[in-house]
Amino acid sequence: MSNILIIGAGAIGLVTATRLLELDNKHSITIIDAGDDPRRFRKNNAIGASFSGGDARHVTVTETECPASPLKNIYKPVFPGNGGWVAKPINDLSKEEKGWANEFNRLGSGDGKTRDKLGEKISAINKESMFLWRRYIEKFPFLFSENTGLKDGGVLVFFHSKEDRDGDFQWETHVDSGSKLVRQLSKEDIRKNCNNFAEAKLEGIIVDGFSIHVIAFLKNLINYLERKKVKFFWNKKIDSLQELKKSYKNIIICSGAFGNDLLKNEKQIDIARKIKKVVGVWVTIQNPGIYRPFKIKAPPPTGYINATPDNRKGKKVLIMSGGYGFVGDDDYTKGSVELTGLQVHFEEQIKRVFPKEYSIALKEGTLDRRICARPMTPDGMPVCKTIGKTKQNGEIIVATGNCAGGFTQAQFIAEKILRLLSQE
Ligand SMILES: Cc1cc2nc3c(=O)[nH]c(=O)nc-3n(C[C@H](O)[C@H](O)[C@H](O)COP(=O)(O)OP(=O)(O)OC[C@H]3O[C@@H](n4cnc5c(N)ncnc54)[C@H](O)[C@@H]3O)c2cc1C
Repeated sequence: MSNILIIGAGAIGLVTATRLLELDNKHSITIIDAGDDPRRFRKNNAIGASFSGGDARHVTVTETECPASPLKNIYKPVFPGNGGWVAKPINDLSKEEKGWANEFNRLGSGDGKTRDKLGEKISAINKESMFLWRRYIEKFPFLFSENTGLKDGGVLVFFHSKEDRDGDFQWETHVDSGSKLVRQLSKEDIRKNCNNFAEAKLEGIIVDGFSIHVIAFLKNLINYLERKKVKFFWNKKIDSLQELKKSYKNIIICSGAFGNDLLKNEKQIDIARKIKKVVGVWVTIQNPGIYRPFKIKAPPPTGYINATPDNRKGKKVLIMSGGYGFVGDDDYTKGSVELTGLQVHFEEQIKRVFPKEYSIALKEGTLDRRICARPMTPDGMPVCKTIGKTKQNGEIIVATGNCAGGFTQAQFIAEKILRLLSQE
């Protein structure tokens, strides 16, 4: 039994809290978050990736492809000029942000072996995390109530060309070591799942995975944790651990892309340098009749578009997300020409596949445009490490920086935190 503080009530912090209690329900856990209680109010574009974007996430082995993976053609170098995806004026990049971008580009243009290794590592993390997610779903079925829209049984991935489809298929089967979790879709499969795509001559594969309404699920988690006597403090930003180190045995910092001030105050400069914000964008359109989660591969800076079926006021809709816009340490809510460019590019991709549904949503004012910033590292790997000791000789752990697959990886990271704590 231990006295534990978790800083940050996003997916990583909340999943970690349940896993800690699963291990020992006598742990006394406190969770502090700089934002509002999401069950009451949290505005779009607020800090935190888990609650401020659209309410949908995919969990697949293919999330968080790193810049260095063979799929790197969707992650063109971050500097603009050749399809780059900096979403702030280039002259505003600080020295530290340029350092991040250089490292990102170095890895992305590395030799095939380096790329393969990094990509394989990330896929292995996702695979382990998916296994843990499924165990968790079995163990805590009440957290996945109907409103969380959990849809397991594979995620469809569509491509505009055979060449793209074959490239991805080869890579996914490679990292999946020949298991049956990835297969190509026949024309008949595509017609059955979505006739539009057969007409649009899109090619497809199916990968193992599921989709979930993340906000609904995490609200259930908060309610559950409160019932388990976890103490929550909202609207409280932690700037220093000085006093907290005396009061808590273990401290786990799960501050996503928004905790760099705290990390710098704690002299964790290298970690703060590694974790930067990359924004993504969202829209909602009418569902033309596709009831499985799916992805469409688009050119940069949009990258993969994730689409998740949902219901809004009795209407069937698709929540769609995508896009890569490097904003470094910036407050992206200020907006910029580059950020608008990202939104425009993303919506052009949606229009290309769903022209009718897009124009209806635009006309009816139901696009529900959203933006949110995720934590991302140059190599696409999560950060999870001990950075020091508390006054009670417990651990201080940073667990964050997990790219576009941060939700997928929440279970892997929670597991790693449990291991780090058990070594104390
Ligand atoms: C467009 C888009 C699509 C995505 N799609 C997917 C997907 O399909 N699948 C997937 O796996 N992942 C996806 N992700 C990524 C995923 O949403 C994030 O990686 C994940 O939610 C991050 O969770 P987190 O707990 O690390 O951070 P956050 O959710 O950002 O939580 C961090 C929390 O810490 C708090 N905080 C920060 N600093 C402090 C401080 N000093 N004191 C107190 N509190 C603090 C913040 O308020 C925040 O609530 C997507 C991201 C984007 C942007």
